Amino acid sequence: MSTYTHLLLAVDFSKSTDDVVNKALALARAFETRISLIHVVEFAQVDLSNELVMPQELELDQELLGLAEGRLEALADKHGLGDSKRFVRQGSTKREIVNVAEQEKIDLIVIGSHGRSGLQLLLGSTANAVLHGAPCDVLAVRVRD
Ligand code: AMP
Repeated sequence: MSTYTHLLLAVDFSKSTDDVVNKALALARAFETRISLIHVVEFAQVDLSNELVMPQELELDQELLGLAEGRLEALADKHGLGDSKRFVRQGSTKREIVNVAEQEKIDLIVIGSHGRSGLQLLLGSTANAVLHGAPCDVLAVRVRD
């Protein structure tokens, strides 16, 4: 039976992040896989007027991406993942997670899931969206916050 070799852990820095990280760490130990981390900064420079993007806006983008890189590095260090590959991407969370999974030949994505129901389920969740586009297995870790 083939097992996993490279796991991609999607983090949003919410309160439940440590729970998702701990599940991924347990899996990585059991399967002796590599772990890579991803965080997506979901903001878009909507330029409806088709005008040039202002330099201040570009600076803000860079600042937000830099902050996310720092947070991801701190999280990796906290969990002994200092040597892991880290990806900070800008854009749609689902699309970027799937893109990095394809690029890095990931065979397991680990992601949090709130177990929504009713209207919330209809509105969709990140885990659901990733599951439908993923090139590999997806483990949805049930979180509560
Ligand atoms: P949500 O459906 O938005 O509550 O998110 C559930 C899970 O999706 C989180 O526990 C993370 O694993 C992942 N996730 C959500 N937002 C992001 C993000 N911006 N970057 C990376 N992973 C994310």
